[in-house]
Amino acid sequence: MTQPLCGAATQDGRRCRNKAITGSGQCSKHQGAWTAYGVAQRKKKEAEAKLRKLRKKK
Ligand SMILES: [Zn+2]
Repeated sequence: MTQPLCGAATQDGRRCRNKAITGSGQCSKHQGAWTAYGVAQRKKKEAEAKLRKLRKKK
């Protein structure tokens, strides 16, 4: 099996050719807020923040 490529759009309008990190779908450079991994992390944080707010209300 070949390792998937990152494929993120770069500043010059091309696709990133770096190898993607397994599980993140993108390379270490483009791993961040907009990757599947990053979005999952952010959603987790948002859910935690919501829980905290609910607890404060009571
Ligand atoms: Zn990349």
